[in-house]
Amino acid sequence: MPKGWRPCPKAECPEPTPPAQRYCDAHMVEYEKSRGTKAERGYGADYQRLRLKWALRIAKGIVNCRRCKRWINPAEVWHLDHDDRDRNDLKLAAPSHELCNLSAGGKASHREDARGPDPSPPPF
Ligand SMILES: [Zn+2]
Ligand SMILES: [Zn+2]
Repeated sequence: MPKGWRPCPKAECPEPTPPAQRYCDAHMVEYEKSRGTKAERGYGADYQRLRLKWALRIAKGIVNCRRCKRWINPAEVWHLDHDDRDRNDLKLAAPSHELCNLSAGGKASHREDARGPDPSPPPF
């Protein structure tokens, strides 16, 4: 076992665990999942793997933005953008330009606000 590593603290799990991690890789995934469903909690091992996969494709210059459908220049900042219909489903996540993602996020939260109960009548 590398220096500083220790056995995974999960019962009967023999996997070595790096010092920065609470459990072995497999159990970290489980642990992250069990830590509540806050949308951006998806930044676990699955997310990192997926992001790396997309990063390799973007580096080759073969990916278009999921929102504006325009090409993503490998030199540009991009986000691994979640799907608005199910932000927890990583299979639906795909890259978009930073700006496209941020403006979509703003719109989405406005939509959410609009859906809430609005006791005040329209001003006309
Ligand atoms: Zn483990
Ligand atoms: Zn875009």
